[in-house]
Amino acid sequence: MEPTQNNPVLTRRSLLVAAAAGSTVALLGRPAQAYDVVINPTAPQLGDTISVIAIPQDPGATTPPRVTVNDGTEYPTFPIGGHRFRALIPTSPFSPPGRTVIRVIGTENTRNLAVGLRNRTFPTQRITLSPGQSDLGNQREFDRVAAFKGTVSPDRYWSGGMQRPNPGRISTEYGVRRYYNGVFAQDYYHRGIDYAAPTGSPVTAPAAGRIGLVGRLSEGFELHGNTIGIDHGQGVLSIMIHLSRIDVNEGDRVEAGQVIGAVGSTGAAAGPHLHWGLYVNGVCVDPVPWRNGGFE
Ligand SMILES: [Zn+2]
Repeated sequence: MEPTQNNPVLTRRSLLVAAAAGSTVALLGRPAQAYDVVINPTAPQLGDTISVIAIPQDPGATTPPRVTVNDGTEYPTFPIGGHRFRALIPTSPFSPPGRTVIRVIGTENTRNLAVGLRNRTFPTQRITLSPGQSDLGNQREFDRVAAFKGTVSPDRYWSGGMQRPNPGRISTEYGVRRYYNGVFAQDYYHRGIDYAAPTGSPVTAPAAGRIGLVGRLSEGFELHGNTIGIDHGQGVLSIMIHLSRIDVNEGDRVEAGQVIGAVGSTGAAAGPHLHWGLYVNGVCVDPVPWRNGGFE
């Protein structure tokens, strides 16, 4: 039997596709590790998180599948209850729009599924920098933030849709692109959402989690300013920067809606605001789908 099956492009709604185990089952006398796969959303756009849920057809199967995308980038899978495994695939303004192939690889069977990743136009800003203005930040700060963004813990702390972390007006949306001194910045997009609010306005956890990073201006966080990183589990992370106050310590467990600090303008901030970045497996994604219902 041909181990690789090609399936048509998924077009609308969640589509349940049954993987036929084929004649191997009869020959070997035991089922191949085959999966039903549910992809959501089926018509994602740049910035969306794509949920890939794999359900083994063999109720006794316990081996998680591997999930890869296009060039072979692999994303971790975790059990999510109900005899299901899930991978969360991040996309961003840098993702190539168009046909995106998702492979769900079992021990004896690979499912190839495709989604059409829709292009999206992001707003642009024109920034004028004077010499020396782009030199902020130090290596220790960058290393600690990078280590936090690489966190993938197996437990899932969040549940349901995420909450807005501050009541302020949204002043900069996710994904805004920039021109610096008239030159388009290929490697920049706004990695988060900005809420305009006065210094001291409360910052709350958008979802439950464990505090994975506390960084302070006083210890060299000169670009991010006072910073809190929340590990929501399974590769989902929040980072809150430019804070005036930090109310938590690394290792603390926090609940959704719990006050964890306060808005400020520490680090490279033109004025008081909260910057909330939501990361999935190391990529900053659009928080909007996580606010609107979210992922179980
Ligand atoms: Zn921002």
